Amino acid sequence: MPTAYEKGLHEVADGVWAYLQPDGGWGWSNAGLVTGGDASLLVDTLFDLRLTAEMLEVMRRVTPAAEDIGTVVNTHANGDHCYGNALVAGSEIVSTARCAEEMGQLPASTMAAMMRAAPSLGRAGEFLARIFAPFSFDDVPLTLPSRTFEDRLDLRVGDRHVSLIEVGPAHTAGDAVVHLPAEGVVFTGDILFHGGHPIVWAGPVANWIAACDRILDLEPAVVVPGHGPLAGPRSIDAQGTPDALGVILSIRRPLL
Ligand SMILES: [Zn+2]
Repeated sequence: MPTAYEKGLHEVADGVWAYLQPDGGWGWSNAGLVTGGDASLLVDTLFDLRLTAEMLEVMRRVTPAAEDIGTVVNTHANGDHCYGNALVAGSEIVSTARCAEEMGQLPASTMAAMMRAAPSLGRAGEFLARIFAPFSFDDVPLTLPSRTFEDRLDLRVGDRHVSLIEVGPAHTAGDAVVHLPAEGVVFTGDILFHGGHPIVWAGPVANWIAACDRILDLEPAVVVPGHGPLAGPRSIDAQGTPDALGVILSIRRPLL
């Protein structure tokens, strides 16, 4: 498994990629592409249309299956995982029902208004203006999921089996993880911040801990976090070392 933390696509299993965006800080989220024959599933879009278009172009260069993405999964409602949805509006967009509901509460247009107001918001405004300066929230249509689920949804991407598992409310009201059982890959959304401090928008913390336990129960070989570098398989085996498992466990310490 590639371990370099570099921007772009990293193949984590045959026909399965993580799209990483260093440095993993505010808004710099990861995404994923799962292919099966001609079929494809995108895990999350990015924080704005430019970044999402750039990612889709990179994906199309790597595999023809990305030319026509059949399914998009939004792991949760934060804009850095769904504001790019307008560029895949022709796909079936899937999320938990709670995620879809939350997505309508903070559309990109609200972020754009907040950015325009930032100069009059004192130090908080300065902070917002600085961390979100690289992103554009103007003229981003709100594109909500077209299919929702509760608890669990099993999908097929070509011959590949993909399970969506609701683990929220934790980071947000409607978190889900994407599990590929045959490949041992889990896309965690923001249940895992690798190398960064997690932020609890919804909670309670006990749910987040339970979500971590559910991910561990899946015994993943590869963990693709919502932010930060890939978490590796060796560290899952070597429990207690500060790698993949240690990373998951390290979420708990700052929260407890
Ligand atoms: Zn995020």
